[in-house]
Amino acid sequence: MATLTSKSTTAAAVVDTAAASVTAAVSQPTTNGTLSLKKIPIHLQSSQNRVLIKNGKIVNDDAIFKADIYVEDGIIKDVGPHLIVPGGVKTIDANGFFVLPGGIDTHTHMNATFMNAKTADDFYSGTRAALAGGTTTIMDFVLTEKGQSLIESFKKYRSQSDGLACCDYTFRVVIPEFIKGKTDSEMDTLVREHGINSFKLFMAYKDVLMLRDDDLINVLIKCRQLGALPVVHAENGDIIDYNIRKLKNMGITGPEGHLQSRPEEVEAEAVTRITTMANQVNCPVYIVHVNSKSAADAIVEARKRGCLVYGEPIAAGIGSDGTHYFNKCWQHAAGHVMSPPLRPDRSTSEHLINMLASGQLQTIGSDHCVFKTADKARGMKDFSMIPNGVNGVEERLMILWEKAVRPGKLDPRQFVAITSTNAAKIFNLYPRKGRLAKGSDADLVIWGPKPHVIRAENHNSNGDFNIFEGTQVSFGPLVVISNGRVVFDENGLHVVQGSGRFLPCAPNSSFLWHSIRDRERTLPIRIDRDGKDEQQQQQPNQQQPTVPRTPPTATVAAAQNGNTPLIPSMVPGTPPQQFPQTIEPPYTKENMGTPNFYKGTTRSGVRNLQDSSFNLSGAQIDDDKIGKTAIRVQNPPGGRSSGIW
Ligand SMILES: [Zn+2]
Repeated sequence: MATLTSKSTTAAAVVDTAAASVTAAVSQPTTNGTLSLKKIPIHLQSSQNRVLIKNGKIVNDDAIFKADIYVEDGIIKDVGPHLIVPGGVKTIDANGFFVLPGGIDTHTHMNATFMNAKTADDFYSGTRAALAGGTTTIMDFVLTEKGQSLIESFKKYRSQSDGLACCDYTFRVVIPEFIKGKTDSEMDTLVREHGINSFKLFMAYKDVLMLRDDDLINVLIKCRQLGALPVVHAENGDIIDYNIRKLKNMGITGPEGHLQSRPEEVEAEAVTRITTMANQVNCPVYIVHVNSKSAADAIVEARKRGCLVYGEPIAAGIGSDGTHYFNKCWQHAAGHVMSPPLRPDRSTSEHLINMLASGQLQTIGSDHCVFKTADKARGMKDFSMIPNGVNGVEERLMILWEKAVRPGKLDPRQFVAITSTNAAKIFNLYPRKGRLAKGSDADLVIWGPKPHVIRAENHNSNGDFNIFEGTQVSFGPLVVISNGRVVFDENGLHVVQGSGRFLPCAPNSSFLWHSIRDRERTLPIRIDRDGKDEQQQQQPNQQQPTVPRTPPTATVAAAQNGNTPLIPSMVPGTPPQQFPQTIEPPYTKENMGTPNFYKGTTRSGVRNLQDSSFNLSGAQIDDDKIGKTAIRVQNPPGGRSSGIW
């Protein structure tokens, strides 16, 4: 194993003195005249912590460079070569190692009750395990049942996480039903008052969590209005329900029935359905735990159709497979039960990695939802009763590095993009999270050679089974810093219960919603057959609708001449002010998360699907100017680097 020098220099001694003086400052005289030290919780002391990481290879999603990082008060204060820093600083020599932004696990379930069982990990043990694996932020879920208040459920989860979590976390709230006037107004309150910018929708778990198509559409519409991202469990619950009954009638009761009740096309169909609905409603959509080649391909097909869809495979799908469901040992097979199931096709992992490498899938989660073997045993006689869930919050980074970076499928920058940066962008935490830069949160990982074999006996989760049992990994976290404090090093974990913060997430992440708002400006064509529009245009003093909703007269004339109706802007001489105008409220500080740029439809009226300033119709902004000698391309050849994928 590689060693890492974590020096307690004389400077570090000064820090101890500083901490001691702070402690002394709150010393209070007791009634008998002696001083008793009022202990400051370590997580408050951490605000005094100063750390200098020297000579590491800093990896962001767009660059690798050698530099120092100086951390103070939980924030990265500076990044650069040979930093001059104040005295009293703990120095860590990272020469020869990578320094990465702390991982963001986009999918965990801590302290959840699901299928009549409680997860083995709560927010304390679960976030401990996360930190030990280099993950410094988890995105968890508020599970609710039909009839329950979303807001009350959210508050209950907060009360079970706030005093326990050791790393920062966010929540997505599950929508188990859509009741007009109730669900939508609670969604509204959650976004506006409680820092929720994403909701979870299930297409599986019939009669429990599954939403029917009309409810899915209603939730998608509400999400679009709020600028909140729908994240979707995509499997066809009706077909699964039929398959389960069929298999049980045939006498199949073991975990192999779980796999066979949920074939790949059941997953792929749901992906195609939800992406179609989202595209029609003009809402982005995020597919969680993409676990099959077919589902990944369905995402690619949807993207080809112009859908704004993002996909998250999970560590289990990369580092394990579905052949385990046929294992003779019931406990072993049941330990792999999750939904959608892992696939017995062993090329699935490589396929998913290739999709990540090519940018077709963007993030990786763990779906860490651990049930002890005793709880899994609820389904001993009926595979459909086995609580669904596997581990992965600790192993996620190591598994992806081993399976994708070592064989050269991903480089370290892509690794960072997939394990943190893209998630931060999609869920509107960027650049606070997912980047090593001045002003970002001091969540970082010193990453280097750490060869070991993954075993349940020495993992940090409370679970008693590990789906990666026996997997050899070569790299791992050597030092983990969360909110500016060293929480993991060669001596193990030094976490503080309750030091993790709930991260409120603003809606309208510009990375998702920019193009959606542009698309909203493309209105359907209506033909003015009774001449009313023309009359209105001739009476300018009459009150005009602020939004012209019909094509100009020239379009109608062209149509009446037997020509195909034209897009308004294609008609020569049509003044630009007659083009459909935006009907959305303008961007303000309140409704946008991060600064963004804004482009309208092109002069030809074509939807602007790219960030680029030209489109494939060939129309240019200066087409109306005479004597044009050259096409002005405003962006450099090869495109700009401002996109995220
Ligand atoms: Zn899940």
